[in-house]
Amino acid sequence: MPAILKLRPRMQRLLSPAVTQAELLGIIAWLGVLLASPVIWGLDLMAITLGLLIVFGCHRVAVNYRVWRLLGVVYAVLLCAGFAYVISANVELQVFALPLAVTVVISSAILFIAVADFLLCAALVWAVLWPTITAGFYPGAQTYLFIFCLSSVSIGFILSFSYLKNLRSVLLVESEFRELAQTDYLTSILNRRAFMESFAKLIAANEGGWFMMLDIDSFKLKNDQFGHDVGDRILCAMAASLKNTPGSHSFGRIGGEEFGVLVLGDDPWAAGDFALRLLQAIRSSVAPPHHYTCSAGMTRFSAGADMSAVLKCADRNLYTAKGNGKDCVYLDGARVRENVTKRIPKK
Ligand code: GH3
Ligand code: MG
Ligand code: MG
Repeated sequence: MPAILKLRPRMQRLLSPAVTQAELLGIIAWLGVLLASPVIWGLDLMAITLGLLIVFGCHRVAVNYRVWRLLGVVYAVLLCAGFAYVISANVELQVFALPLAVTVVISSAILFIAVADFLLCAALVWAVLWPTITAGFYPGAQTYLFIFCLSSVSIGFILSFSYLKNLRSVLLVESEFRELAQTDYLTSILNRRAFMESFAKLIAANEGGWFMMLDIDSFKLKNDQFGHDVGDRILCAMAASLKNTPGSHSFGRIGGEEFGVLVLGDDPWAAGDFALRLLQAIRSSVAPPHHYTCSAGMTRFSAGADMSAVLKCADRNLYTAKGNGKDCVYLDGARVRENVTKRIPKK
């Protein structure tokens, strides 16, 4: 997905509070005008007021991007249509039509998420209010009114364009930094902090599963024999094996040649099966003479588990795997074996 599209939900979340407050102010102003002006409440005014309240309420809770954009325009046009209705019924209020149009157009410039939305809204606002502005109060002043109209739309356009451009570039830089802060520079998978955060989120969400700690076997020897660049390529191959082995929830590099994996679910057979598939993928991920193996310690975690206790337990299992010949997985003190994971039905 292009980065610009990824920003949309964030921009929507950032703009929403200001849009809500501005719309609330519009409703207060609308009610104020109704109370102050000598209009008789009828079905039409009630329909406009109800419409405004409904659009306002829906806009506040709208999540869908297109719906949210559309409701912003609908609200502004409906508000102006209401004011135009009141003004056309009270000749003495016509003096307010021009400042109203200019105020709505310029103030809405930074409340839209796209310049096109602002331009559409501005055009509709002027179209709705134009008849009330030109009716009688400014005879022969069409040229000046056009200047007001063009100026307000142009100023709004400049505000909207530069505001959105700056907001987008700030958010893009921020998301790039956020990604860098979560990614391991060598292998491009989650780093320790991001991986632990995803683990903490799982526990907080009351999810249960399996935590697996992996450590490349005799890695120092590989570095010493073939050089650090080969060691680095092995680390990248290890990360690729983690990416390419289906069944994990998340994984990350938690130390030099140590990796963590989270597997969801209750089934120990499924978790063991995943671990053996992963170790096999690791074995065949690099051709000889640089091929390598990995040992793993696995343990169960449940809702509300103590993360450091889980890590210690997995580390103990990893230690046992190292002490029992390496290139194997231990789960709660017992070696995970191929034949155990294949659930052959008993006769
Ligand atoms: P064991 O089987 O017991 O795990 O032995 P080991 O040699 O893998 O473990 P040891 O802790 O002795 O060595 C880990 C080595 O990992 C030492 C360090 O130089 C290497 N290492 C850590 N980070 C990196 C890295 O980013 N790149 C490379 N090339 N090597 C690294
Ligand atoms: Mg180690
Ligand atoms: Mg090691």
